[in-house]
Amino acid sequence: MANSLVSLLESKEGGKCSELATTLKSTLDYDQLTNCMRCGFCLPACPTFRETGIEAESPRGRIALMKAVADGIMDPDYAFETQMNHCLGCRACEPACPADVKYGQLLEQARDSIEQHTTSHRWWVKLARKTAFEGMFPHQKRMRLLGGALQIYQQSGLRKLVRGVGLMKLFPAHMGQMERILPEASYRGVVEQIGSRHPAKGERVGTVGLFRGCIMDVLFTETNKHTVELLNEAGFDVVIPETQNCCGALHAHSGEQAGAKELAKRNIKAFQSAGVDWIASNAGGCGALLVEYDHLLHDDPQWAEGAAWFAKRTLDVSKLLVEHGRLQAAATQAMATSKAAAAPSCGSGGAKPGCGSGGAKPGPVSEAAAETAAADGCGGSCGGGGVSFASADKVRITYQDSCHLRNAMRSSEAPRKLMRSVANAEFIELREADRCCGSAGIYNLTQPDMAGQILDHKMEHVQRTDAHYLLTSNPGCLLQMKLGIEKHGMGGKMEAVHLVDFLHERICK
Ligand code: SF4
Ligand code: SF4
Repeated sequence: MANSLVSLLESKEGGKCSELATTLKSTLDYDQLTNCMRCGFCLPACPTFRETGIEAESPRGRIALMKAVADGIMDPDYAFETQMNHCLGCRACEPACPADVKYGQLLEQARDSIEQHTTSHRWWVKLARKTAFEGMFPHQKRMRLLGGALQIYQQSGLRKLVRGVGLMKLFPAHMGQMERILPEASYRGVVEQIGSRHPAKGERVGTVGLFRGCIMDVLFTETNKHTVELLNEAGFDVVIPETQNCCGALHAHSGEQAGAKELAKRNIKAFQSAGVDWIASNAGGCGALLVEYDHLLHDDPQWAEGAAWFAKRTLDVSKLLVEHGRLQAAATQAMATSKAAAAPSCGSGGAKPGCGSGGAKPGPVSEAAAETAAADGCGGSCGGGGVSFASADKVRITYQDSCHLRNAMRSSEAPRKLMRSVANAEFIELREADRCCGSAGIYNLTQPDMAGQILDHKMEHVQRTDAHYLLTSNPGCLLQMKLGIEKHGMGGKMEAVHLVDFLHERICK
């Protein structure tokens, strides 16, 4: 508990100020560190604190460690690095903080400093980081080649062979699980498959530039294609600038700030030349950095203005649809009705009525949902301007927030409004949907034990919703949810799907 943090600080008092300490002192935003008033309101929101109960594993504890280094009270040693690495970077602590401490930015500053000086990486970790951050993610063509190699592995029979002879048993268990839930990869990304310009259907409301992502475009090409079609249906012209590249989020979260900045500059240039009104993201993890390009480049006089331009017009696709898209009257009305009748927040705290948690399991899809379908579904008022959604079968759906979408992009209502607008679908709020699933970029690969523990708790709540579909809005979360379903033997009755794919399949034509 708090004692472990005190002893960690005391044991280092008077320690020699290392080069890392000097870098940390000059990098960490001291105003943000002192903004923390140590109230502890963020503690219950923090997954690592909830799992361990250790103060040093909490936002307040980590900020205290950073401040101790900045004040010269302690030297940043292995224990300091461990605490920074244990953090999921989910930023659930930010909305909970009354002092508006920008914890995510502090964490990135700390990790960037650590990466500049670390000597603790083994040679193969260094090689893997260099290959991924410099050799792969920034290069769209190489990412597609990787997608092609994966595609061959998946379709040539090699995958069957590898599984048949049990080759994956040579790797850690979580790697084998991950291999089983990987979606079908594609060598050809969204532009290669459908081109880069797509006109709106019906009355036009503006032009959207689609941010296609690097991993997204290799593993979730269909979702990118569905995003384009959804936006067209809602009245947007869609452009996919071909010179865009990786957003830089994995770089920024892993302490590679310089790489993230370079990628940001290339994206700003690509979207500015495309002349777009908005930039749409369909991956919470990418979007969270895209909306913070202004912060990332605030001290670069040449790019600060362009970065602010970019950040201001970037929205998650669900928010873009709800706030600016042409949604049919039926869909808008269903959103308003369902909002009024919405279940209470099922976030932190005990079980609440109406949440998918504890107590009786939900019964068949409610009469209300069925009635909405009959009144507003495809058999009814479809065919007018704009888009609306209806499910052919009565289904129950639930939703796991993407932490970055919720806590950094501050978009949690728009996805729920869209889900509630689907006729013939009953939305069940997942208890603690606002809590990280353990995916957190590559956290589930680098910290598999903690990630597995967090996922197991998540799946207990998921199971209680008895939903047919578990929806989410970020590729990392989607893979983690697929992993959870597989690990907990729920594959026969529940499917994890990206929100865009779910909606796309239910567009009223
Ligand atoms: S809620 Fe904010 S101010 Fe309070 S301890 Fe946490 S980070 Fe500090
Ligand atoms: S980012 Fe998430 S894991 Fe890290 S301190 Fe904040 S709430 Fe805890």
